[in-house]
Amino acid sequence: MIPTKAYAAFSADSPLAPHTIQRRKPGPDEILIEILYSGICHSDIHTARSEWGPTQYPCVPGHEIVGRVVEIGRKVSRFKIGDHAGVGCFVDSCGKCGECRSDEEQYCTKHASFTYNSLERDLETPTYGGYSERITVREAYALKIKKSLPLEQVAPLLCAGITTYSPLKRHGIKKGMKVGVIGLGGLGHMGVKLAKAMGAEVTVFSTSPSKQKDAKKLGASHFILTKSPEAFTNVQGMFDFILDTVSAKHDFTPYLESLKKDGTLVLLGAAPDPSEVQAFSLIFGRKKLTGSLIGGIRETQEMLDFCAKKKVLSEVEVIPASKINEAYERTLKGDVRYRFVIDTSTLRSGK
Ligand code: NAP
Ligand code: ZN
Ligand code: ZN
Repeated sequence: MIPTKAYAAFSADSPLAPHTIQRRKPGPDEILIEILYSGICHSDIHTARSEWGPTQYPCVPGHEIVGRVVEIGRKVSRFKIGDHAGVGCFVDSCGKCGECRSDEEQYCTKHASFTYNSLERDLETPTYGGYSERITVREAYALKIKKSLPLEQVAPLLCAGITTYSPLKRHGIKKGMKVGVIGLGGLGHMGVKLAKAMGAEVTVFSTSPSKQKDAKKLGASHFILTKSPEAFTNVQGMFDFILDTVSAKHDFTPYLESLKKDGTLVLLGAAPDPSEVQAFSLIFGRKKLTGSLIGGIRETQEMLDFCAKKKVLSEVEVIPASKINEAYERTLKGDVRYRFVIDTSTLRSGK
């Protein structure tokens, strides 16, 4: 085993703190990645604080992982030492069920092994995420990253990127369509960039007036400040499709009313508290309310290649590991421009 420096949550209400975990030497079909950057997703915060149910502590969050391959098992064929590689929200799955066979491992009926707060396939070993120096993973669950890309801006694509790309792709977003994005945070800003790259006319719904200028720079044509009393008066029946990336409980009604007939509202934000839905807001106009969970490995690779081709990257603020708790507080206040990314070399240097 390889002792590995990390940052972990030890309880729901204490700050994250330095910790040492063990990573295994790579098996025949595994690679060892020296982690260079790891994004901070709001799911890390929900989990570190047991907001989605009891978390297994200590918990090392992080599922937007990029780094360099430093060791490979003897059967590895897709990676060589020195390659850049990424790991997203899951590190394994059964590989046999219908979902796995159709490249949607995130919906594995035997439950995927998520990157942290989950178990490896032996159903005994806890998984630990990217707030750490290195990770060992089966090559089939790692993503290839082009050497020419700035790694810190690629890291958030592994969750925020694929989570927004997958529903946009699935629902056939294309030129001329009107797409709304609710919440301009990590997921939201990627949703804007990706919808724009697919040709849509994008509108941001936000509670933060200070984000208006950025929304336009990111590619949105319109910005609606949802706190203003007249926010929704001119958008009734306007949108083909809306991505909801809000991390806290809120009312879906005004957004459902903003959809065209047969329009779709996709929930990506996973607010811990349930919301009510008015039947009439779906019945009139045959609207659809649905959800979406990240994306499979094949689709994540497709998204990375799409982003490389279209020059889509995340806007990031790179921080040392010692600033993780501060970054959590700022994310909770909506003060994120637009993803915090940990420079994990600071774990090694102790900065
Ligand atoms: P984030 O960076 O914190 O962004 C969330 C944004 O939502 C905030 O910046 C803010 O934008 C808005 N917001 C926050 N609280 C709000 C409130 N009470 N009312 C209205 N708007 C509010 O978070 P993230 O990393 O993008 O993640 C967003 C959510 O998606 C989290 O719940 C996360 O767990 C979930 N998630 C789901 C998946 C999936 O597979 N479905 C994957 C990753 C993450 P404004 O300032 O613009 O209002
Ligand atoms: Zn995430
Ligand atoms: Zn499966």
